[in-house]
Amino acid sequence: MTPFPRPDYAGVRRYDPGRAPVRLDLSDNTNLWGTHPAALERIRRATTDDLARYPELYADRLREAVAERFDVPPECVTTGAGSDDVLDSVFRASFAPGARVSYAAPTFSMVEPFAHMNGMEAHAVAWPEAEADPSALFEGDPDLVYVCRPNNPTGGFPARAWIDGLLSERGEDGPLVVVDEAYADFAGETLLPDAPSIPKLLVTRTASKAYGLAGLRCGYAVASAEVALEADKSRGPYKVSGLAAEAAALAVRDEDGWMAGVVEETLRNRARFTDELTTRGHPPLPSRANFVLLPAPSGAARQDTLALREVGVGVRPFSGVPGMGDGLRITVGPWPLMEGFLSAFDEVFATAAHETAAREAARGKASRETAR
Ligand SMILES: *Cc1c(COP(=O)(O)O)cnc(C)c1O
Repeated sequence: MTPFPRPDYAGVRRYDPGRAPVRLDLSDNTNLWGTHPAALERIRRATTDDLARYPELYADRLREAVAERFDVPPECVTTGAGSDDVLDSVFRASFAPGARVSYAAPTFSMVEPFAHMNGMEAHAVAWPEAEADPSALFEGDPDLVYVCRPNNPTGGFPARAWIDGLLSERGEDGPLVVVDEAYADFAGETLLPDAPSIPKLLVTRTASKAYGLAGLRCGYAVASAEVALEADKSRGPYKVSGLAAEAAALAVRDEDGWMAGVVEETLRNRARFTDELTTRGHPPLPSRANFVLLPAPSGAARQDTLALREVGVGVRPFSGVPGMGDGLRITVGPWPLMEGFLSAFDEVFATAAHETAAREAARGKASRETAR
């Protein structure tokens, strides 16, 4: 008998990004302008049937909306309760004993746990190495290669020529390549319409970011019909709630409406915010997404995050980012919120004395919390 839990689960933990309610939360890249109005209106008009009956087996109306929006065949679309669910499903469909997921690091923090949850090995390749030679991602004969474009948490955007190089290096019977486009709406460039005609390429999208629907848990992906079918089988029926699928479908059909305005303002505020930080001597990494990564001294990300939290601002810390050291990821939202961040930043980090004091305070608090 296999012990419970199975031995390769030993390293799997519940997700704990250290989030707690805070006055100004810029930590999770959700839409700080709010939610898609047509989606909200649909939820408000919920009927007994929406709740009492099972939804469509495989969210066909959302599938239709995606197919029409991107001009792809509906059988090339798969859906999930968040794009995390789509990723988890294709990881599961790729599983074989000893299977391996390869990815350029740093990247989306869920990739490693999804690999482990599905009994796969996770293999990180430092981005500079993968950028110089995409075939580095095929070392060790992986069964799945994951690429995030734009990348979370750096905001970097692998060029189309690099993606094409990766796909041609892979050859005829190489592994499934998954391109995570959670932030593609902000980059204005996508692989999605090409996915049906490229064998073993799956491109994922989410309703959680630009559409402002993170609470609904809804995502989708486009691939060849064969790959989309395997993802559907692995995910199982009834996973996307009916209201979530309908609300997300309305947002997909109206990408040029409310969302286009949000994207435009995000890009404007990202440039302005980048200038403000640069003026302060702290330039963030160039970003194609709705967040920026601000380099921090090695070992400082956690303390800096705690110091900002003390003044009511939430950001996401990253420690030991390959080629960079530490960093703080900050979501870009409406300008008054960015001003709120900047005044907190000035308060906490303006002078060396302040910086030291804030770090000491944070360290004191951290050790008090550990002691408890
Ligand atoms: C936020 C995010 C997702 C979205 O996950 P959902 O499950 O759709 O909410 C997927 N990939 C990346 C890289 C993300 O940052």
